[in-house]
Amino acid sequence: MKKNFLEFLTMSLRKKRKAIFLFGMFILVISVTIFTACNVSSNLSPYSKGVLTVTFIDVGQGDSIFLAMDDETMLIDTGEKEYAYKVTQFIQEKDYDRIGVLVATHPHDDHIGGMAEIIRNFTIGKMYMPDVSHTTQTFINMMDAIENKNVSRHIPLQGENFKLGKATVTVLSAGLSNYSLNNTSIVLKVELDKYAFIFTGDVEFEAERDILSAKARFDISAYVLKISHHGSDTSTSDDFLDAVKPKIAVITVGKDNRYEHPDKEVIDKLSKKGIKTYLTSKKRNITIVTDGRKMEVITTK
Ligand SMILES: [Zn+2]
Repeated sequence: MKKNFLEFLTMSLRKKRKAIFLFGMFILVISVTIFTACNVSSNLSPYSKGVLTVTFIDVGQGDSIFLAMDDETMLIDTGEKEYAYKVTQFIQEKDYDRIGVLVATHPHDDHIGGMAEIIRNFTIGKMYMPDVSHTTQTFINMMDAIENKNVSRHIPLQGENFKLGKATVTVLSAGLSNYSLNNTSIVLKVELDKYAFIFTGDVEFEAERDILSAKARFDISAYVLKISHHGSDTSTSDDFLDAVKPKIAVITVGKDNRYEHPDKEVIDKLSKKGIKTYLTSKKRNITIVTDGRKMEVITTK
């Protein structure tokens, strides 16, 4: 070191300048590398560019899931009517006034209760719903709101897909109506490179079997699985879980709900398979962000 310093002192001015210049360049390269590395990790913050942000909004006993990638948005269900203000506020706070795709998975109140209000509050690109109707006032209100605002409706088919930013959304199930209203739920897989989510609505074993039978046509594995039907024992068969192979499960459920969801059997099954499980009743809003290479779960509690 001492020798190097002596060499430096005895160098010609031109050589000194060159050494200082090279040292400066070295520092610059290191700084740029560190800055870029920091920036990559901060890119995973919710709603930043190139990031898919998925929030399971806490709407008590019900579903409402907001997805955004760049300027494109999708809302899967709204929860009961009483939560429409909360869902509205959540989306508006993120600076969105348009919902590109609004999905009414199936016509039960805990999924479409707030639809009429959401349709009134936002510009809706397109509405996805199964080919079933219901006799409830909630359903009538939703249909009236659709008509009043002239929202375009789409009844999807199994296997069709569309884009949400850079993510691909595939319809795994839609309108399987021979069994129960729950089984008519639209099931969606949303995939961004390495990471995928499956949103199941309230499908039961019959629809899960139907999805499994289509396995040859689609890859049904996903890193994150929204557990169907609030963790009820009507759903989440071993076969389905083994095919999806999720690492993370989310259960949308109200605290102390009258259905006693989630079922202990389902919880035990998930824990035995080593699947990290988040409940909206415990964590409130659950946000998952991914850029397709990394994923992060953010909870408020
Ligand atoms: Zn439900």
